[in-house]
Amino acid sequence: MKRLETRIKQDGIVLSANVLKVDSFLNHQIDPQLMQEIGQEFASRFSTEGITKIVTIESSGIAPAVMAGLFLQVPVVFARKRKSLTLSEDLLTASVYSFTKKETNEISISKKYLHEDDKVLIIDDFLANGQAALGLVDIVYQSRANLAGIGIVIEKSFQEGATKLKNLGIRVESLARIADLSSGEVVFIKERAMEELAK
Ligand code: 5GP
Repeated sequence: MKRLETRIKQDGIVLSANVLKVDSFLNHQIDPQLMQEIGQEFASRFSTEGITKIVTIESSGIAPAVMAGLFLQVPVVFARKRKSLTLSEDLLTASVYSFTKKETNEISISKKYLHEDDKVLIIDDFLANGQAALGLVDIVYQSRANLAGIGIVIEKSFQEGATKLKNLGIRVESLARIADLSSGEVVFIKERAMEELAK
C-alpha cells in the first residue's frame, strides 16, 4: 500500500536492526485517515471470504481492526493481555511472548464472542516472529471458528513470523513488507527486488 509505505519512510524511526518505531501514526498517536485507508484495503482483500468477525489484540491492533470492521460491517473483538475483573465468563486463552516487551502474556477472549459458525479475519499492527498472530490463531482454533486469514499492517519479512504462518497454510496479507532495517533505513521488499534486478 503506497501511502502507508510513504508514511513509514517519512515518519518511521529505525530503533535497531529489528525494531521500527511508528508512534506518530500507528502505535501511540493514530492517524484516522490512514487507518481508514488501511481498513478499506483489508476489507477489499478479504471481501469475498464471507468474514463474520475480526479478531485482534490490544492495544495497537484495535485501530486498523475497527476500520476493517467498519468496511466489512462486522464486529471486532480484541484479545486482552490482562484478565479484567469484568471478564469473568468462560475464556479462550493462549500464551504470547512479546517481541518488543520481552515478557509473556496470557491473552484471552470471552467464549461469548467467538463461535464455530464464525469466519474470522485476524488483524495486527506488526508481524515479527509471529507469536502474537499464532496466539490469536490458537484462540480461533479453540473456538472452532473458521480462519480466513491474517491482515498485517507492517510485516518485517526478515523475521520468521510470515514464513511460519504461511507454512501452516494460513493466508497472510501484509500492507507493507520490510526486507531490511539493518542500514538504519527502511528497505521494502519491492525496493530490495529492484536493487537485485539492477545488479
Ligand atoms: P511477533 O509476535 O510477531 O513477534 O510481534 C508482533 C507484536 O510485537 C506486534 O503486535 C507489535 O505490537 C510488536 N512488534 C513487533 N515488532 C515491532 C516493531 O518493530 N515495532 C513496533 N512498534 N512493534 C513491534
